[in-house]
Amino acid sequence: MKIRTAALITPYEDTGEVGTTTFDKEGIAELLKLLNEAGLDLHLHTVGERASHIVLDGVELAKKELGDDFHVKVTCAHLEIQDDADLERFAKLGVFADYTPWWHAGNMGGEPYKAWCELLGERRALSMYRCKSLWNSGAAVTFSSDEVFFGDNWSPYLGMEIGMTRHITDKTKALEHSRTKGAYPPVSEQMSIEEMILGYTINGAKQLGIEDTKGSIETGKDADFLVFDNDLLNAEHEGFSHNKPSEVYFGGKKMN
Ligand SMILES: [Zn+2]
Repeated sequence: MKIRTAALITPYEDTGEVGTTTFDKEGIAELLKLLNEAGLDLHLHTVGERASHIVLDGVELAKKELGDDFHVKVTCAHLEIQDDADLERFAKLGVFADYTPWWHAGNMGGEPYKAWCELLGERRALSMYRCKSLWNSGAAVTFSSDEVFFGDNWSPYLGMEIGMTRHITDKTKALEHSRTKGAYPPVSEQMSIEEMILGYTINGAKQLGIEDTKGSIETGKDADFLVFDNDLLNAEHEGFSHNKPSEVYFGGKKMN
């Protein structure tokens, strides 16, 4: 969105442009039919509200045609802004909503609300990163990191902290310039630690279709798990990003 190419329904506040998408809804539906035949899933990066809108329309079209034969798992990643009318459609259509929660403090540093207001206008700047609304609608919400360079920004503990607080403070293990002033609105979109953990584990496994072997600790699964010295469920939210496992198990074998 910062380079004004992300597809919007309502134009960018400053330039009046609406951005663009790679596919239209018919194109998505056609692609989904091919993927359905090939037994493949679809993961899309949908930043602006028009991008996820087109994906949902495409899924609706493909499902209408294929009915119960439709088996493609569709994931929309990013979801920085979503059209109000689309919030309920993720659950209805079974589309996964994947967020990079460390962006949920506004993803700009300083006073991101001001910058987003200039770009998107107040209405949308006040309703970004609505993962809790999606969660409450019954949608499958997952968390991950879209960061492409090595560093702390990959950390799920950073994602968990910001997903819970929507605020990067002096206590947060994050780059100096990313600190923000206050929790990014709407604070009603702050997640609980239980939701963050489920989003990072079993929901992510379902998104990848590997929930039979991964994503929770159960008899018969792969026994990939972490041990912490402290209780994450009761840990302080501010500074949560400093958490680190004391033991790492992979396939039941201690790796550290
Ligand atoms: Zn991306």
